[in-house]
Amino acid sequence: MSFLEYAPAPESKAILNLRDSYGLFIDGEFVDGGGKSFHTISPADESPIAEIAGASDEDVDRAVAAARRAHDKVWSKMSGRDRGKYLFRIARLVQERARELAVAESLDNGKPIKESRDVDVPLVASWFFYYAGWADKLDYAGLGANPRSLGVAAQIIPWNFPLLMLAWKIAPALAAGNTVVLKPAETTPLTALIFAEILQQADLPAGVVNIITGAGSTGATLVRHPDVDKVAFTGSTGVGRDIAKAIAGTDKKVTLELGGKAANIVFDDAPIDQAVEGIVNGIFFNQGHVCCAGSRLLVQESIHDDVIDRLKQRLSTLRLGDPLDKNTDIGAINSAAQLARIRELTAVGEAEGAERWTADCAIPEKGFWFAPTIFTGVEASHRIARDEVFGPVLSVLTFRTPAEAIAKANNTPYGLSAGIWSDKGSRILAVADKLRAGVVWANTFNRFDPSSPFGGYKESGYGREGGRHGLTAYLKGASA
Ligand code: NAP
Ligand code: MG
Repeated sequence: MSFLEYAPAPESKAILNLRDSYGLFIDGEFVDGGGKSFHTISPADESPIAEIAGASDEDVDRAVAAARRAHDKVWSKMSGRDRGKYLFRIARLVQERARELAVAESLDNGKPIKESRDVDVPLVASWFFYYAGWADKLDYAGLGANPRSLGVAAQIIPWNFPLLMLAWKIAPALAAGNTVVLKPAETTPLTALIFAEILQQADLPAGVVNIITGAGSTGATLVRHPDVDKVAFTGSTGVGRDIAKAIAGTDKKVTLELGGKAANIVFDDAPIDQAVEGIVNGIFFNQGHVCCAGSRLLVQESIHDDVIDRLKQRLSTLRLGDPLDKNTDIGAINSAAQLARIRELTAVGEAEGAERWTADCAIPEKGFWFAPTIFTGVEASHRIARDEVFGPVLSVLTFRTPAEAIAKANNTPYGLSAGIWSDKGSRILAVADKLRAGVVWANTFNRFDPSSPFGGYKESGYGREGGRHGLTAYLKGASA
């Protein structure tokens, strides 16, 4: 062991109480699926974790029917105060079972345990606490004269923050009196199924939340179901477009949270060491599988070399490996398919003439891994400056003036988030005002709070999640 090496500090899996196979969670119970079952695996070593049921079209029907019954007969009739009690109960159970949920998330998704333990799961609890507080205030909070639930919400979530995206979807829907059919991503269904157990523990009335597992086609069937009133989707822009087309002409309400290609802008008066930490957090957090990742670094030309030198030094200290090791900074890539996409796009980056630098770290033999990589000399026209890589890959561009920084930052089909690093408050406000991005962070990056709305411009989607805005997306006759 060399100087500054750490001994392994793996979090124990003993806390998990996993079943060998999981059914669909419909009407308060786990039931067999009529579709093709599949295995969810650990991306860190490709070992199977559990067999997961696949939902057939009839199962989708049953889940929507259960949600409809629960909505019409129970949940929408219950007082907001009582709905709030259930949400508080769920939040507390998430806290009680936090360690178990964090271990399961890291196992199934590949993200470092320190992130699932310190970011994902605490935010899940805070989302339920926050919306629990709203449930009994809908009539008194300026949301409109008579805000009422929409009905049955079909919710489809991606694999990058499985449990957190579930919380973003379920908490506001339930607070507003809707019932839910949720489909987690195929590669990360585990924490949604443990969450179903939590709902049983909380005695949530049957049918209020239904969780159906399956492939993309299950999601496609769900969003098209005629008895669904609201569609909430987080995922890729391509699938978002498909969903928007499928429900055009119906009276379904929709929110789409799609991809991003955020600019992280560093001015020459920024505190450089803090900015370097922010750049690392912006793009290497969760292996860069973050829709709002700061994947385009725009650095002022005069400090470019200094920033890049310090960034390379910092990246050389990141530890890649076992997601369950508490020392790990960079975990596994979530799937073979995602790894292939990252490899393809980085090969294109090299072919287009950008200069590639990859941190020197040992890659485990099994599993899906990609070492932190940066590209310098990137042009705005390069694919690595335009396409979402959704991996630990940073593209670096330069600028000379604030106007050039703004023009380059906005030169993207996306508009989900952005970051600004500067010592001058006036500059931060002036630049933030001109950025076409739903969230702009100043001297920080990737911070989330349930009271703060989140969502995109342009191809990053429409609608907002979080805060009052997130609540109005689940209410009839409400305005934010
Ligand atoms: P994806 O392929 O769009 O999948 C997202 C979800 O949709 C999964 O549950 C998927 O099921 C399901 N799905 C696939 N095809 C479908 C169809 N035709 N109809 C209905 N549902 C379908 O995206 P992903 O690769 O999992 O996630 C990465 C993308 O999500 C990135 O582009 C990222 O930026 C975006 N994202 C956005 C946000 C945000 O808040 N804006 C947050 C996180 C991620 P299967 O898993 O079974 O295929
Ligand atoms: Mg998995």
